[in-house]
Amino acid sequence: MQKIQVIEKKKKKMKQKRKTHAALKSIDSLMVDMPFANTDIGDDSVITSASEKNIKKKRKRNTGREKEDSKTMKKNKKQSQPNYFISLPITNPKIIGGIQALQDIIVQKDHRLSKAMVRYGSLHITLLVMHLSTEEEVGIAVGAFLESKDSIEELLQGKQLDLSFQGIDDFKNEVGFVKLAEGDCTAMLMEISETMKKIFQEKGILAGENRAFKPHLTFMKLSKSPDLRKQVKKIDPNLYKNFKSHYFGNETLHRLDLCSMLKKKQPNGYYHCESSITVRGGNKSQFKDYMEILY
Ligand code: AMP
Repeated sequence: MQKIQVIEKKKKKMKQKRKTHAALKSIDSLMVDMPFANTDIGDDSVITSASEKNIKKKRKRNTGREKEDSKTMKKNKKQSQPNYFISLPITNPKIIGGIQALQDIIVQKDHRLSKAMVRYGSLHITLLVMHLSTEEEVGIAVGAFLESKDSIEELLQGKQLDLSFQGIDDFKNEVGFVKLAEGDCTAMLMEISETMKKIFQEKGILAGENRAFKPHLTFMKLSKSPDLRKQVKKIDPNLYKNFKSHYFGNETLHRLDLCSMLKKKQPNGYYHCESSITVRGGNKSQFKDYMEILY
C-alpha cells in the first residue's frame, strides 16, 4: 500500500515538472517577439536565484575593481602626461600677420571659435614634449637642453635652417595648423628633434611620444576651451579653404626654449621658459623685428 502511494507521488511530481517545462517553453517563444529580446537584462528584479545573486555580487565586486583600475590608469596617465616642451618660437612678422588674418576670417564666420585661437605671442613649433615631475627633474632637463646646443650646431654645420610655411592641414578636425613645406629643412628639424630626444632620454627624462613627429604650426585647437569643445566637435575645413595653399613666410631657426605648458605665461603671451639656447647661424635681425612687435 505504501509502495503504491510512493509511485503515485512520483507520477504526480513528474507530471508537474512536465507542465512547468511546457509553460517555460511557451514563455521563451513569446519573449523572442518582444522588443527587448536582444537586450542584456541586468535588472535587479529579474535576478532571483541564489546562484544568480552570487554572480551579481561577484560582478559588482569586479566592476568595483575595474573602476578602481581605470581610476589608477587615468591617474598614471595624467602623471606621465607631457607638461614641458621644446619650442621653436615663430618670430617672423609676415607669418604672424598671415596667421592673424586667417584667424580673423575664421572668427568672423564662427564667433565661437575665437576661444580656440592660439595667441600670436605664443606661436611656436613643438620639437619635443616631456614629463618632468619635480623641480629637480626640471634642473636635469635644463642640463640636457643646454648640452644639446653643441649637437644641434654640429648637425647644422654652420648653415642657417630656413623653414618655409605654406598651406593648412588639421589633426582629426580638432587642431588647425600651418604646414611646413617638406624638404631638407624639415628633415633636419626631425633630426634635431631626434637628437634632443636621445640626449633627454639618456638623462632619464621621459621625452617623446609614441606617434611619429610631424612638425606643424598650430593656429587653433578646440582643446583650448572645454566649453567650446562641448559645442563644437569638429572644425569645418571650409572655414579656412581660402588659405589652403597660402604661403605664410619663412622662419629661420635662431632660438629654442624649454617651456612649461602649465606655468603662468609671460606678459607677452609666450610660455614660461626654464631655459633658452641660441643657435649659431640664426637670423638675429628677424628676431629683433619680432621683439619690437611684442614690446
Ligand atoms: P602643439 O602645436 O604642439 O601645441 O600641438 C597641438 C595639438 O596637436 C596638441 O593637442 C597635440 O597633442 C596635437 N598633435 C601634435 N602632433 C600630432 C600628431 N602627429 N598627430 C595628431 N595630433 C598631434
